[in-house]
Amino acid sequence: MVAVVEDEETIREAVAVALRKEGHRPETYGDGLDAWTAFEVSLPTLVILDIGLPRVDGLDLCRRLRRRSETLPIIFVTSREEEFDRVLGLEIGADDYLCKPFSMRELMARVKILLRRAALTGGIAIEEPEQLVRAGALVLDPLRLSVTWKGARIPLTVTEFLLLQALASRPGVVKTRAQLMDDAYPDQIAVSDRTIDSHVKRIRRKLPAADPEFDGIEAVYGAGYRFLQS
Ligand code: CA
Repeated sequence: MVAVVEDEETIREAVAVALRKEGHRPETYGDGLDAWTAFEVSLPTLVILDIGLPRVDGLDLCRRLRRRSETLPIIFVTSREEEFDRVLGLEIGADDYLCKPFSMRELMARVKILLRRAALTGGIAIEEPEQLVRAGALVLDPLRLSVTWKGARIPLTVTEFLLLQALASRPGVVKTRAQLMDDAYPDQIAVSDRTIDSHVKRIRRKLPAADPEFDGIEAVYGAGYRFLQS
């Protein structure tokens, strides 16, 4: 069961319609407390969360959910790009963020990726070392969408993972924002250059947080980004 917690009825209903079309059974909630009351009885398989919500806000709800489950996929929908940074600063463990207005295709693509990952990580861990992408001390696992740097796990969102994978699999090569968009957004979903920049900015903050020595992603003025293999 996929839960949608959103107080704007038009968005809530549009997301529910899109989910039903994809074969999901969405449960919708217009405020945070109703959602939490239901989640206490049984956890959903994935949650789409608005930030500004009556009674219990999305950030609080995310924290509460994380205390119950570290692996439950959570996607935030935010009304402003700046809210991304606020959410990131709190390190509350969301799996991805979409900025309103978002396309339903993009949201459904994210839901699909996260449910696939949850199914893989929830099962028995199978070692498939040949699947791993390595770039220096960085190891990416494309099946589980997980990243380690010198053995330490780096908490990246799905979008951040796809962007880092695109850069790290071609060390030294400059990737333009348009190429990164193709790599990180399936089905030719177009996002703004600023969206790409803000995702890359967050990756560039998260890796040094784990290792202050890390300086592996370079912005190339007027061109794009490249991964520098140390
Ligand atoms: Ca709201």
